[in-house]
Amino acid sequence: MPSRRSSVGGWLGTLPPMGTRAGIDTWLLGRAQDGGVPHLGCDLACCAAARAEGRVEYPCSLGVRDHATGSLVLIDATPAVEPQIAMLHQLTNSQQRGRRPVDAVLLTHAHIGHYAGLLQFGKEVAAVCATPVYCTPRMANFVRTNAPWSALLSDGHIELVEIPLSADGCGICEPLPGLSVEAIVVPHRDEYSDTVAFRLRGSSQTVLWAPDVDQWGKHSGLAERLLDGVDVAYVDGTFFDEAEVVGRDLGDIPHPFICETMTLLGEVAMKQPGRIRFIHFNHTNPVLRDAALRAKIEGVGFGVAAVGESVLLSQGA
Ligand SMILES: [Zn+2]
Ligand SMILES: [Zn+2]
Repeated sequence: MPSRRSSVGGWLGTLPPMGTRAGIDTWLLGRAQDGGVPHLGCDLACCAAARAEGRVEYPCSLGVRDHATGSLVLIDATPAVEPQIAMLHQLTNSQQRGRRPVDAVLLTHAHIGHYAGLLQFGKEVAAVCATPVYCTPRMANFVRTNAPWSALLSDGHIELVEIPLSADGCGICEPLPGLSVEAIVVPHRDEYSDTVAFRLRGSSQTVLWAPDVDQWGKHSGLAERLLDGVDVAYVDGTFFDEAEVVGRDLGDIPHPFICETMTLLGEVAMKQPGRIRFIHFNHTNPVLRDAALRAKIEGVGFGVAAVGESVLLSQGA
């Protein structure tokens, strides 16, 4: 189970104070679908109330910190990259980093919620210096051959590090010493790039990052394959159920429903409560607003991920 904090404010968990931390850990920086909350153009109660209350949910992103070296890794660069990296710095006491806000970026795919924030690494904003960006060869080719992304390369703000993939769609990279990351190609809408999930392996625990995947039912064994050897799994929970998707063709947005995942993986979840944790919530998803529904999901062994929660990957010296 991750340690929790309710917001960037006070701790709810049991992690030691930051100055005494060692090893490598992850930090959840956002849990919404690509458009976040409030969602552009939505005047339904879900987003009208969020605007009135000043409530914001950032798109999915995960930070990693190595406490021995102070190195930071960002997994997925969302349109809210500025507040999310600021949150990562605050959560991990990593201020005063100048033009190196993070030491590496990993990208799952070329949809707006997962890579658009990379533009802020360029000369109009942070003008970072040669930050390594890890992605698949197809994603790298997309960045290399399309403006404005290509300018990040030609101006020296990023360096692409391709993760070579095997015939069965798996590859390994090591964005930090002691942090092995496995990329696994997953089925998803792949207009510009392929899509991967990441398994982050530390010496103590392994975390799965799978914000966007196709419906489990269409790909037999996919969920079990992704969960293999994983201690904490962040998985696509875009929609709670079919009733939530009004006026859209489900063929265009084929994410697994939370209720479907709860049926498919119910036994697995009960064996290790809190291990499978939903993220990537659409603005319409009731789990963002309904505490009773969250309690019901948690009562059968699943988790609704909370921004600021942390998972220890490696104990450290
Ligand atoms: Zn997404
Ligand atoms: Zn909405």
